[in-house]
Amino acid sequence: MLEQLKQIVYEANMLLPKHHMVTFTWGNVSGIDRESGLVAIKPSGVPYETLRPEDIVLVDLEGNVVEGDLNPSTDMPSHVEFYKAFPKIGGAVHTHSPWATSWAQAGRSIPCYGTTHADYLYGEVPCLRVLTAEEIDAGYEKNTGILITEYFKDHDYEAMPAVLCKNHGPFCWGKTPEDAVHNAIVLEECAKMAARAELINPKVAPAPQHLQDKHYTRKHGPNAYYGQRK
Ligand SMILES: [Zn+2]
Repeated sequence: MLEQLKQIVYEANMLLPKHHMVTFTWGNVSGIDRESGLVAIKPSGVPYETLRPEDIVLVDLEGNVVEGDLNPSTDMPSHVEFYKAFPKIGGAVHTHSPWATSWAQAGRSIPCYGTTHADYLYGEVPCLRVLTAEEIDAGYEKNTGILITEYFKDHDYEAMPAVLCKNHGPFCWGKTPEDAVHNAIVLEECAKMAARAELINPKVAPAPQHLQDKHYTRKHGPNAYYGQRK
């Protein structure tokens, strides 16, 4: 079932080691088939070197395994919350990529210091709070997803396809699984550059708002003009 989606999700997962986004088995990518409401996700703890398209697990939006012999990623309940709350996304990814995770561990949102960031991520990348002990005990991964989707009730999840969870790491999403991984790689690069900018100049200030607006809107929205006409 949904062999094409499993292949797409497999290929998106394999982009993580290719782009040095994961160590060992850390990290997972999923994708959704909106028609059936089924989510394809990496199995838990399977090394990327041996991962196969047929290993990708299918779950429904209640988190029940619908197809697959392996257990889904332990982060699956977070992914499911994203798909329920963000109707326009087709893929989601979680990694512990080191620069983005460093900001998360430091408990800091990532300011927009330049146009690389502004091209993809509109404004500072938010760092959300740690879950309470009760929330962790009641359902750690699901409540992580709920914390994130609650935040985006008042924020634009399309303009900010990335978030940091304090003391943990980044979660990203996109129109497709590949697009979600693309955003995760952009986030990692921006996190690295922001940390270096602060190292070089501890008094560095965010890029002027009009510059941020220019770079974001020329790539996104109704008046975008970056790239080639489709
Ligand atoms: Zn994690």
